[in-house]
Amino acid sequence: MPDTKCNNPYHGMKPAPFKHCPDCGALINPKINVESDCFKHHTLRKSKGYGFCPDCGIKLQK
Ligand SMILES: [Zn+2]
Ligand SMILES: [Zn+2]
Repeated sequence: MPDTKCNNPYHGMKPAPFKHCPDCGALINPKINVESDCFKHHTLRKSKGYGFCPDCGIKLQK
């Protein structure tokens, strides 16, 4: 998981609205508790153009 910031404005938000950045997968808000079954939403998020799951930070796009 990269720890360098991408250009997504979520990096500058406090608090950030997601646990992980949807563009680079970096942890942006460790305080957010996420569903352990977020994989159910991965297909939908991928279709929305998310590069990474904002809950678990896994890479969705190839
Ligand atoms: Zn990012
Ligand atoms: Zn996920």
